[in-house]
Amino acid sequence: MDSREPAQAPAHTPASLATTLATLRAAWLKRRPDFAQRRTDLDHLAAAIKAKREAIVEAINADFGRRASVETLAADVMVTLEEIKHVRKHLRSWMKPKRAPINVLFLPARGEIRYLPLGVVGIVAPWNYPFQLAIIPLVDAIAAGNHVMIKPSEFTPRTSALIRELCAAVFPPERVTVVEGGADVGAAFTALPFDHLLFTGSTAVGRKVMAAAAPNLTPVTLELGGKSPALIAPGFDLALAAERIATGKLFNAGQTCVAPDYVLVPEAQRDAFIDLFFAAVAKRLPTLGDNPDLTCVINPRQSQRLREWLDDAKQRGVAIRQHTPDDGKAAPGEIIPPTVLIDPPDEARVMQEEIFGPLLPVKGYRTHDEALAYILGRDRPLAFYPFDRDRARLERTLDTVVAGSVCVNDTLIQFGQHELPIGGVGASGMGHYHGHQGFLTFSKAMPVMRQARLNGMFLFDQPYSGLMKRVLDFLTR
Ligand code: NAD
Repeated sequence: MDSREPAQAPAHTPASLATTLATLRAAWLKRRPDFAQRRTDLDHLAAAIKAKREAIVEAINADFGRRASVETLAADVMVTLEEIKHVRKHLRSWMKPKRAPINVLFLPARGEIRYLPLGVVGIVAPWNYPFQLAIIPLVDAIAAGNHVMIKPSEFTPRTSALIRELCAAVFPPERVTVVEGGADVGAAFTALPFDHLLFTGSTAVGRKVMAAAAPNLTPVTLELGGKSPALIAPGFDLALAAERIATGKLFNAGQTCVAPDYVLVPEAQRDAFIDLFFAAVAKRLPTLGDNPDLTCVINPRQSQRLREWLDDAKQRGVAIRQHTPDDGKAAPGEIIPPTVLIDPPDEARVMQEEIFGPLLPVKGYRTHDEALAYILGRDRPLAFYPFDRDRARLERTLDTVVAGSVCVNDTLIQFGQHELPIGGVGASGMGHYHGHQGFLTFSKAMPVMRQARLNGMFLFDQPYSGLMKRVLDFLTR
């Protein structure tokens, strides 16, 4: 496929989507994927991804205008292959029923938990890591024995077409189907009576998805966004914090759900931190326009949004510093220079909404408690990055801030861990996936109790005996 010309996707209507779901469900009811099938599927999927490695890099590059190939290989291809490898390795043991202890009063009955597939799972993906955010949920869902319908993002049409072709090459359409389309298709898709729905995207659309799922009581996993703070404690090596925050902010041009959104730094160290941050940026990006390692902002709509937020801050008198080694015009797509906004007020748009781009508000704080109160006074973040080497203070911080995930003294890397469950809390989402948690999300953990031939349940038969009354009297006294 030519990565610049996505193949025309078939149009979808609510009725055609319902028919597709009915086909997937009928096939699933007829034959559920067993262990051998699931493992074969995972092997075929991994082989297809490896074979399409270059095409994936090209498609995402074309969709973004420019996407650093290292970023695509690491964050779209490698993490997906790693997930497949991990799931494949553990699948047999995850699928095995697990013994569960039975309350002593009910012995000698036995208990177990069996892991049943749910049926047909719907997956809706965003544009920022367009491959992995569609395929990792697919991996977890097929590992659990489900059939799957995927709706990738309309803002990455080449990648979405590639995902459709790749899935069609690996799976028959009655087991996995990819439907393309925009918000209208997304709305109709999420109103379908899936057995589970995993949505990755913005908090605003997440609200609509939950409302669309409610009439069907479809369980939802919502992987949403929000503002993820980095909190630098007094005494922490400022240069190291600046380096790690620069990496987290510049990767994919800040278009990462778990990117550090803003920085809280002791007031007296604020300016030194900003200098060190720009030193780290300059080291990473000596040029912008012609730099193959700098990913573009996905489209003019997003870069326009970021420029408007900058203008909004300027109008409020916020001091702004930018890294502009060149004008960025040599880039094949949209470039926003890495920018620091110094102490923006809470009313500024950069402090109201998730930034999702290379803008970094840096706010000075006076006391650690003040910094914690600032974080606690806002929506629960998707990610939280404390930089601190004082054990007691760090423990207090970790016991205080409730976030989707935390990485201490670095950024982003918690997202790539197989057995750290991925998911937000409150406005940043609900539910988890990746690794075993993903298998569990797409399974019904069904408790089964097996009654023994000889047991004491006759005690519950009327007329209730004096023995039963004495037993209850003893247990409840
Ligand atoms: P978005 O919410 O605009 O779109 C996500 C998907 O939802 C797209 O496929 C879109 O077509 C679909 N959609 C749009 N309107 C819909 C509707 N009314 N009903 C159902 N579906 C609809 O998000 P985006 O701009 O593609 O992605 C950026 C957001 O995603 C950011 O907020 C980011 O933080 C978040 N995100 C979260 C994670 C995570 O793991 N928590 C990962 C990546 C991105």
